[in-house]
Amino acid sequence: MRTLSQRKLKLAIGLGATCSGCDMSIVDLAEKLTDVFNAVEVVFWPTAFDQKLKEFIQLPDGSVDLGFYHGSIANEENKEIAELLRKKTKTIIAFGACACHGGVPGLANLTTTKELFATVYKETPSTENPDFTEPLSETKVDGYSLHLPKKFDTVQCLHDCVDVDYYLPGCPPEVPLVEKAIEAILTGKLPQKGETLAPNRILCDECPRKREEKKISKIYRLQQIIPDQEKCLLDQGIICLGPSTRMGCGAKCIEANMPCRGCMGPTSKTLDQGAKMIASLGSVLGLEGEELMSEDEVRTMVDQVKDPLGTFYMFTLPASILKRKTMTQK
Ligand code: SF4
Ligand code: SF4
Repeated sequence: MRTLSQRKLKLAIGLGATCSGCDMSIVDLAEKLTDVFNAVEVVFWPTAFDQKLKEFIQLPDGSVDLGFYHGSIANEENKEIAELLRKKTKTIIAFGACACHGGVPGLANLTTTKELFATVYKETPSTENPDFTEPLSETKVDGYSLHLPKKFDTVQCLHDCVDVDYYLPGCPPEVPLVEKAIEAILTGKLPQKGETLAPNRILCDECPRKREEKKISKIYRLQQIIPDQEKCLLDQGIICLGPSTRMGCGAKCIEANMPCRGCMGPTSKTLDQGAKMIASLGSVLGLEGEELMSEDEVRTMVDQVKDPLGTFYMFTLPASILKRKTMTQK
């Protein structure tokens, strides 16, 4: 860590389409936050400080050492903040699954804004909205104009919008990874530009469960089975994204007897996390002792996977080869 006599690094934290869980993993540094604040001056962090956007805009371009951006790019404001952060900072870290790969908000790419608004503001059973009032980007009230940022049809990752220097994945990033990243920043030991600040191996490599890679013919949803705590979840017929997901989270979900959902994204060797998982599942799905299956048998087996896109691309749809569902004009 730097000493007080050294110049403090200036840090700005920008927010996109975020649940702010990523802020929590910074706050969770707990007593180490004191060390961080001794070495870092936070010039913009709307979640934690009362700095105003206009003050951040007034800072000279390139005068901030470091920027974290969490959340995906889902509307005009998210894009403006990302561009502003890029302009003001020397180094930007895409912080968390949403900024790195699109995250859960990226599942909006399975639909359009029109359909999304119809579901949220009209069709859900708990919604009472007979006039179908929905958010507008401009509204006149008593002669005044009110503006809301326009939502994009396609949710993007941070790197689709601005140049990104490093990636810190996870939903949210695990505290030890945040600690390591901050230490690397403060000691000037960051790796090559473009690197992900987490180990470049798959989760199965750090998972304590024994994996036999045996054939599975039945896929279970979590409510249908109480998994054995020692055995690999995939071996037990539960879809676990460990084979296609980067390690570094400490296998916390697995420890809680829950399968990996893939929030760390893929390793650098994998182009598309969902496709890799589909291939991994394909290699174990089948009937023990039977080499070839009929088309009907294959179809029946594959049909057991409920919500395939939500399962294989829960955190990475905008970063995938698919990027979004192709919509036909109605
Ligand atoms: S990565 Fe997870 S914790 Fe962070 S903003 Fe996205 S949904 Fe929230
Ligand atoms: S598939 Fe899941 S449970 Fe099995 S070894 Fe990999 S991470 Fe562990």
